Amino acid sequence: MQRTKVKDLLQGAEVGKEVLLKGWVRTKRGNKYVNFIAVNDGSTINNLQVVADEKFSEEALKDVTTGAAIAVVGQLVESQGKGQAYEVQATSIEVVGKADPETYPLQKKAHSLEFLREIAHLRFRTNTFGAVFRVRNTLAFAVHKFFNEKGFVYIHTPIITASDAEGAGEMFRVTTLDPINPPLTENGEVNYEEDFFGKATNLTVSGQLEGELAAMAFSDIYTFGPTFRAENSNTTRHLAEFWMIEPEMAFYDLKMNADLAEEFIKYIIRYALEHNREDIEFLGQRLAEEDKAKPQNERQEMTLLEKLEFVVNNDFERVTYTEAIDILVNSNHYKKKKFQYEVSWGVDLQSEHERYLVEKHFKKPVIVTNYPKDIKAFYMRLNDDGKTVAAMDILAPGIGEIVGGSQREERIDILVERMKGVGIHEEDLWWYLDTRRFGGCPHAGFGLGFERMVQFVTGMGNIRDVIPFPRTPQNAEF
Ligand code: ATP
Ligand code: MN
Repeated sequence: MQRTKVKDLLQGAEVGKEVLLKGWVRTKRGNKYVNFIAVNDGSTINNLQVVADEKFSEEALKDVTTGAAIAVVGQLVESQGKGQAYEVQATSIEVVGKADPETYPLQKKAHSLEFLREIAHLRFRTNTFGAVFRVRNTLAFAVHKFFNEKGFVYIHTPIITASDAEGAGEMFRVTTLDPINPPLTENGEVNYEEDFFGKATNLTVSGQLEGELAAMAFSDIYTFGPTFRAENSNTTRHLAEFWMIEPEMAFYDLKMNADLAEEFIKYIIRYALEHNREDIEFLGQRLAEEDKAKPQNERQEMTLLEKLEFVVNNDFERVTYTEAIDILVNSNHYKKKKFQYEVSWGVDLQSEHERYLVEKHFKKPVIVTNYPKDIKAFYMRLNDDGKTVAAMDILAPGIGEIVGGSQREERIDILVERMKGVGIHEEDLWWYLDTRRFGGCPHAGFGLGFERMVQFVTGMGNIRDVIPFPRTPQNAEF
């Protein structure tokens, strides 16, 4: 007999028929005469109710406890009870894998997210994390679908890299040298010429530079892969290992880049709303519950579903960095000295500034463009004013920066000048500069942090709760 997934059973496709159902027990309740077993197999947030009547002795059901894996044969019927349309009238129940109720850590009561993080190997089995990771899966699929429909080529950029030129963040060294007794140079420094790759290597902080090389042949490419940053900051928005999506487009300027990013974000949110509505509704209720415990002025104005639909149906706000600074300096918040960090032309926007713009001032996602060149990467295209670069950050409510991107500097003399300014040697990036020498063209791209996107769509406040096994300072369990 073929197993049917709970999601399909709940749609009633096989009503009246004998079905085989496999999954994990969420709860069992009942009495001597009848027991109701809620079974979940991960295919949907909803459980399927299995009814075990007096045919089943107490002995036969003693190992049917929360967490156990079971296989049930029975008839799928319309449910008499409230709360579900269909249920299975069991004829046989096999316990495939027991879960000792004395030691199984997931009990019926609600557990805190912090506690569940410590048992991340089991948290997939909760409603919340089931919903989060189904949404994550859908978003990942939608990313590929979006770019594939637009004719973008998916490029796998290297994870181990010797280029430390990007300057995006602190890097993790990759080495096979003996940490206790490494070979040394005459100056007493570690001699990486004797290392595996013959030079010092790291885990990548971004696939952009390699992505640009591919865009100079395929026109439109994207990467979607793991990225590593040894940032020793314990925030709710930073991981040491995260997934990034980096499209790169030849013959695009900054405006086209921003248009694509906005269309892309709306597309994948809409796709999740269409395919994971129940999960998102559940997560929205979770948030609403959490909100009740907060003081009135910290509560969300919109529910999760309302927020997502609002984002999908409204244009993002677009402002220049200079306009953003003006808004901040003229705000009451600023006048009352409520910003912790300085605000003036030339400083980098801090998270508090970004949140003010997005959450208080515009109340919608904002694309900030044309930042001062000194606070942005060397490869961003210098504007005619000589002071700003064609950069763009997209800021989202509750998250802050979700996208960072720019039009790239295609003019080799200016690029080399900017590299010198930040101490990058031309020889180290000879291959990158070659694309400006041979058939160079205006081009642009951006990086979207996938986990921040998942946070936005699921409403989860901590980035550690949207990746199965988070890597953060002092933590690499599982
Ligand atoms: P932030 O200022 O938030 O640290 P960043 O300026 O370092 O971001 P970029 O280098 O532009 O970010 O990276 C592109 C995108 O990758 C960001 O917009 C963000 O969505 C995501 N991102 C950056 N660092 C992290 C991290 N440590 N963990 C998760 N996502 C990240
Ligand atoms: Mn950063």
